[in-house]
Amino acid sequence: MSRVFEGIAISPGVAKGRVVFALHVLPQKSAQRDVDFTSEVRRFFRAISSAKRDLELMKTRISKGKLHKEVFDVIEVYLLFLEDPTLADFVVERIREGYSAEESVREFFEGQMDRVKSTSDEYLRERVKDLKYVKRLLLSKLHQQEVDWESVAKRGDILVSHFLSPVDVVKVAEKGIKGIIVEKGSQTSHTGIVARSVGIPMVKLPDATEVLSEGDYVLVDGHAGRVVVDPAPDEEEPQKAPVRECVAEKLPVSIYANIDFPEEAKVVDELGADGVGIFRTEYIYLVEKSWPSEDVQVEYIKRLLSFLDSDLPVTIRIADLGGDKIPLYAEHMMDELDYRGIRFFMLKESFFRTHIRAILKAFEGRELRLLVPMVSDVYEMKWTKEIVREEMNALRCRPEKVLFGAMIETPAGVIGIRSINEEVDFISIGSNDLTGFLFGMDRECKIMDYMEPPNNMAMVECVRRVVKVCSSERVTLCGEIARDRKYLPYLLKAGLRKLSVNPAFIPELRQWLVDYLEKNKREQPC
Ligand code: PEP
Ligand code: MG
Repeated sequence: MSRVFEGIAISPGVAKGRVVFALHVLPQKSAQRDVDFTSEVRRFFRAISSAKRDLELMKTRISKGKLHKEVFDVIEVYLLFLEDPTLADFVVERIREGYSAEESVREFFEGQMDRVKSTSDEYLRERVKDLKYVKRLLLSKLHQQEVDWESVAKRGDILVSHFLSPVDVVKVAEKGIKGIIVEKGSQTSHTGIVARSVGIPMVKLPDATEVLSEGDYVLVDGHAGRVVVDPAPDEEEPQKAPVRECVAEKLPVSIYANIDFPEEAKVVDELGADGVGIFRTEYIYLVEKSWPSEDVQVEYIKRLLSFLDSDLPVTIRIADLGGDKIPLYAEHMMDELDYRGIRFFMLKESFFRTHIRAILKAFEGRELRLLVPMVSDVYEMKWTKEIVREEMNALRCRPEKVLFGAMIETPAGVIGIRSINEEVDFISIGSNDLTGFLFGMDRECKIMDYMEPPNNMAMVECVRRVVKVCSSERVTLCGEIARDRKYLPYLLKAGLRKLSVNPAFIPELRQWLVDYLEKNKREQPC
């Protein structure tokens, strides 16, 4: 008998196969599995070292007088927990028995917390929160570790994980995983965006690690957001979404492609897109093992351009590092990476100059549309333009022309749009981040219905304001709402005429626009 679990659709497509767990804490009841002992133990010790490094760094800052003595003492306690030999002994033994490092760490700390909670000693009971902190720190370090995806993919086809980073998605897709079920994630999370880019079905099921077991045979339906255990043989067969025929008709609305990886651009022409609305360059940094050199970056960007007609507008976004896009090798730079988007580069100017030189060189002889992420103040545009001008002047190979764009994805950007607009040639609205910041929600969370049109028009009002100040011709919207039918009629009425979406959604968006414009001919917004 099949069991059906209703979740949330994150990336379309259907896949069938055996469940394999990774990167999460499994419930106690789970069966022991065959994890690779050596690599799992190595992950554990790497997580310990990385956690200790963070704490030591904190201590250095405190001794420079930035924090108080009590905090210093608490950090000492954390370090003692991490150095406790019973922790290492317990975890190594559990890994030997076939449990993952995460699972073993969780079990150890929960046992400790239970013991401490049951004592009458007030001081000891207070230590529960310290144990909790160290457990969380260690688990988060484990989550940032490189996993041996090859061995995971050998054990199953459908990956179940509490959480995955965008780069993990690229890696599991490369290793042949056919579908993904996550407990945490959303349509607008970068993990979801990348899953759609690499064409792997993904469903969010908040209690997946509780209700599924390793080895279960499941069907992941990324269209309906369902997971079926032991599907009937006639359940939908795995299939690639067919590329629908393009509608030749010229629309009064332009559709561009959001591109995350160069190879994705191969279909841009075939789909009749009006150009590339955003090329997310941060993946150059995320897929490498150390800061990519100028040459590596030039090659990467040139690969994208090799798939595109030379007269097609291509908007390339300066790497938006920070947030959930942190290269593993840059962990020690968290102080700077806490400043996301262009602000990170403002703190790390030499990295920025390398990046800019690579972009300018790769666009030699072409028109470059350079988009600056997270612009919240006109100063950020002025700073960027100055550096680009300096680098341009020093280069022989350079673009024919450079157009500057600001990505508006913070409320401060919307409020300051008038002055920002004066410094740029075009504007791109990043509704994924803007929605999160407007409502004070993590973009990993699905927005609640009452926060969306027609109930709440905050997002639409932001778009209306930006379009009114900057004009329809200059504004493109790149976030996921650009293909959302709840928003589209209002966005069009607000004057928006340029939409940029993942290539997989271009045919259906075009069809929707044709139908919508036909139906609303009389009050047509265009
Ligand atoms: C956005 O924020 O809407 C956007 C397009 O940028 P990203 O999703 O890469 O943050
Ligand atoms: Mg964004």
